[in-house]
Amino acid sequence: MAAVTLEESNSGSQSGRQLRTGYGVVNIPPAPAHFAVEPMADSYGRSINYLRISLTDACNLRCVYCMPEQMQFRPRHELMSDEEIIFLVKVGASLGVKKIRLTGGEPTIRPGIVELVREIAAVPGIKDIAMTTNALLLDKLAQPLADAGLKRVNISIDTLNAEKFHQITRWGHIEDVWRGIDASKAAGLTPVKLNCVVVRNFNDEDMIDLARLTLHDDVEVRFIEMMPFGEVNDFQQTNVVTFHEMRAKIESVFGPLDEASYDYVDPSRPFRIPGAMGTLGFISSVTEPFCQGCGRVRLTADGKLRLCLLRDDEVDLLTPLRNGASFEEMRTLMREGAYHKPWGHSLSQGLFAANRVMNQIGG
Ligand code: SAM
Ligand code: SF4
Repeated sequence: MAAVTLEESNSGSQSGRQLRTGYGVVNIPPAPAHFAVEPMADSYGRSINYLRISLTDACNLRCVYCMPEQMQFRPRHELMSDEEIIFLVKVGASLGVKKIRLTGGEPTIRPGIVELVREIAAVPGIKDIAMTTNALLLDKLAQPLADAGLKRVNISIDTLNAEKFHQITRWGHIEDVWRGIDASKAAGLTPVKLNCVVVRNFNDEDMIDLARLTLHDDVEVRFIEMMPFGEVNDFQQTNVVTFHEMRAKIESVFGPLDEASYDYVDPSRPFRIPGAMGTLGFISSVTEPFCQGCGRVRLTADGKLRLCLLRDDEVDLLTPLRNGASFEEMRTLMREGAYHKPWGHSLSQGLFAANRVMNQIGG
């Protein structure tokens, strides 16, 4: 990690530190070396144990449903430094967070990503670290990330057609994704899950080829209903393909799908083409959300605790941390924020998350 210790008081992990980092000078208050876990829950009794962290809002692609082409990214000092991320992971772990997903923007473009994964994996209580990525850099990074403690990857691939892939990502090359998928399998980042956001009249026909991948390969291909956000809202609204439409299209080719058991914790409902090695999943966040099992909260790249992907409710954690809040104070902020997690979105009443687009939240 590119950090220089400016001051250290007292001894060991009980001491606070002021560090000059690539993200500015940051204060890291003392974190106890050991803590008693006090699991957090929201006001509906949902246990909150899963933290998705956006490592950056920047990306090496510009997918049409995710961000505008001329996207302005945040200056670096507004983003969480590695030390701040690790501190907030410790705070989360002390409140029962066991599972971390690293996302973005594109998490693999963050400098020092391998070391950051290693540090997060070392936080007591963190049992599982996964990543959502476009895979462009996994050819080189998959093995070091696996060695550092990453367990699995979800890889975005919306079509198998190279030209369409180029169009939907505005400049991506699909061969790079295949190299990333192969490297992930070789590194044991399995089961590899492939994410496909379905856009009407653009890649809805491509679902068939993607679904066919599961026949002879132990992958999970997940079809995602496109969600409306901020400035790319109009595009998404008119082009959303519903879960029922997706299922009908796939069944029109492969016959009735076998329904696998569904735990309401994973947002993806699992199905299988009869006899296939792999599975299909449908993420119906827009038309049939899966709120009852949702134990997720998100940390945006600028350090806000985002309580629901599709709502604007957020609690600023980075500002109080930079202003010198203690471990206990940060714990209280996170616990109380999570308690106020809304039940779910209100898209059907025309209420959209307007303050950020997807890359700023971390999908
Ligand atoms: N860059 C990484 C990637 O593409 O996998 C991680 C970040 S991306 C924001 C996380 C996931 O959100 C991807 O699977 C992407 O396809 C999905 N996504 C982005 N915009 C979306 C939208 N408007 N609706 C539904 N899913 C979206
Ligand atoms: Fe980048 Fe992922 Fe958004 Fe595509 S979906 S622009 S790869 S952050």
